[in-house]
Amino acid sequence: MIKKLFVALALMFATAVYAQNKIRKAVFIIADGIPADVIEKLNTPNLKTIAKEGAYLRAHVGGEKGGYSQTPTISANGYNSLLTSTWVNKHNVWGNDIKAPNYNYWTIFRMFKNSFPDKKTAIFSTWTDNRTKLIGEGLAQTGNYKFDYVADGYELDILNYPHDKLSNYIHLIDEKVVAVAASCIKEKAPDLSWVYLEYTDDMGHKYGDSPQYYDAIEKMDAQVGKIWASIKYREQHFNEDWLIFITTDHGRDEQTGKNHGGQSTRQRSTWMVTNYKPLNDYARYYYPEITDITPSIVHFLGINLPVDQLREMDGESLIGPVSIAGPEANFVQGDIDVSWKVLNEQGDVKVWVASSNNFKEGQPDTYKLLATLPATTQHALISVKDMPSKFYKIIIEGKYNTVNRWVVLKD
Ligand SMILES: [Zn+2]
Repeated sequence: MIKKLFVALALMFATAVYAQNKIRKAVFIIADGIPADVIEKLNTPNLKTIAKEGAYLRAHVGGEKGGYSQTPTISANGYNSLLTSTWVNKHNVWGNDIKAPNYNYWTIFRMFKNSFPDKKTAIFSTWTDNRTKLIGEGLAQTGNYKFDYVADGYELDILNYPHDKLSNYIHLIDEKVVAVAASCIKEKAPDLSWVYLEYTDDMGHKYGDSPQYYDAIEKMDAQVGKIWASIKYREQHFNEDWLIFITTDHGRDEQTGKNHGGQSTRQRSTWMVTNYKPLNDYARYYYPEITDITPSIVHFLGINLPVDQLREMDGESLIGPVSIAGPEANFVQGDIDVSWKVLNEQGDVKVWVASSNNFKEGQPDTYKLLATLPATTQHALISVKDMPSKFYKIIIEGKYNTVNRWVVLKD
């Protein structure tokens, strides 16, 4: 009996060590413009299979409604919130024309390559601007970031993909993008990949809540299934552990389902599917945001971040230990009333304050450490009388994670 138990324990230990030594890889998919209520009522067997292994979560975009981080529920704004784990007040992509992204807020790809210069990244996308403008491939401002594998540009190829009024060519491009992604993942296994699919949003704009729109979403589900099959193939044949996130960039209006961009509940409403289990208490007790995906991938892949990048990220990891969430900061007559919620009681929190935002110009900020106290305290009244300003950045650094908050004073 005891011997049996010992053998069982030894086996468990061996399995755990083996699992730790697996090579970790990640894929995220953005399927454009699908509110949570729609994805939940349709027949999506592939998303459900993945969620059964991990989780399905309702989530949101749009930043803080009415607050300094409020972000229009527009596509490129949402993609960039995922890529940089920041809202529009930082990443500065206000619309699909992508006029002036602030590349000082690194994308997940730049974070990854900075940490692992020899590992491989990939983009498979129905919209070329994702690579050329949001990621800013080859630009000096992005450190000349380069993907190892690229599949995009098909929407510019009108010979092979002639544009038709019903946008069927976008479906065909999504199919092509998925075919290349599935074979590249199966054969080359890039360490970090982004798949972007557009057809769902096109049908939403054309038909609103309708059989045509729902059909597009079920087609997308089948496409996700092809990528998932490649991941399963890798896991069966190689010593690899894969993370997948599937999400969307915004919801649609309540009245017709045709529009988005505003701050109504359904336009802000999104969702996430992941194969990862178990998610942490932040995922369990908070309303996840599109900005949480990058910190989750950072945690999973073990990406080392420069502290100044870490401090700017507005999302939290849904994976692994998390100390604090829900930061608030309110200026009261020369003091800042700071509060947070504790999710893991271990350790202290440090409260740092800067009265500048040099970061957005690519320069460092000078943070003062103004309080160190147990995480369980959950609040601190901090004097900033000797650093008078109309603007403060507050960093609350816990044992396992760091959250941030701005104070913006009006004249
Ligand atoms: Zn969109």
